[in-house]
Amino acid sequence: MNQVYPVVMLADLHTHTTASDGKLTPDELIAEAHSAGVSMLAITDHDTINAYKQLSPAPAGLEIVPGIELSSRWRKLGIHILGLHINPQHPAMLTFARSQHAIRHARAEKIAARLEKLGYTNMLEGAKAAAGDGAIGRPHFARYLVESGQIKSEQFAFKKLLGQGKIGDVREEWPETDEVISQIKAAGGVAVLAHPAKYKLTNLRLEELVRDFAAAGGAGLEVISGKQALKLTEKLAGLASRNGLAASCGSDFHQTGQSWASLGQIPPLPENVRPIWELWQNRQPDKTAREPAGQAAEGR
Ligand code: AMP
Ligand code: MN
Ligand code: MN
Ligand code: MN
Repeated sequence: MNQVYPVVMLADLHTHTTASDGKLTPDELIAEAHSAGVSMLAITDHDTINAYKQLSPAPAGLEIVPGIELSSRWRKLGIHILGLHINPQHPAMLTFARSQHAIRHARAEKIAARLEKLGYTNMLEGAKAAAGDGAIGRPHFARYLVESGQIKSEQFAFKKLLGQGKIGDVREEWPETDEVISQIKAAGGVAVLAHPAKYKLTNLRLEELVRDFAAAGGAGLEVISGKQALKLTEKLAGLASRNGLAASCGSDFHQTGQSWASLGQIPPLPENVRPIWELWQNRQPDKTAREPAGQAAEGR
């Protein structure tokens, strides 16, 4: 089928729904994205493709790129890898998501035990209730801690208990980054290193991470993650180019009103990087439907 791309392309390739730790259902998210003018959307829930199970058809002018955000481990650090343009029904993806689900549950039990040791109560039941049908994670512990009056805010819960390096940051169970990249490729997708600036690495370590990621078959770097300074964009664009990676962009939207970005309201990709979607668009045998050169770049 020929795909006709709009003159102004607004891509948001990193979003969450109630299938993980987002607040909107998949259909609500799609409706919001459409009204925000997004023309290419990836729902990338943490370690699950459940959002794709009962998705209504997308409205005209909005292309859905199937995706996932997989948790991995690199040198004992928790690293998130986006799988974009995957086949969500691929057996490799279904099997892998099931094993990530099992890890999430075992991990939730550990997090709960650690928090209860500190005197917080009913942690596993409370977090499970907060997660509902969604893939359970640290935000559900944060939500329950606040709901039950044990902590004053979710931000504070992360700062004190759940954030990187804190007692509730249990990450040794995740598969290695290399393994996650292989699974994404097996499911027909491209692997993108998510929010590279969020790991608080030194420039040297970040360069090592990106080099390892590219060597393992990673295809892209999330050069734009929500609202960010131009200086950071330039630094990440350089990192992508030096390592032969394409560039992705996304809001990491979880809920309306979040401080770091609204749906689709993110800076454009710089001109000197290769947009990630070219990797799958170029795979299609019929490329005649693409806009003339230059046009698709507008509004990136
Ligand atoms: P998990 O998937 O259990 O490892 O939890 C990671 C999720 O926690 C991220 O995707 C964010 O949604 C959320 N998160 C991480 N750090 C913070 C923070 N400092 N404040 C609020 N939410 C956070
Ligand atoms: Mn999240
Ligand atoms: Mn993430
Ligand atoms: Mn995310």
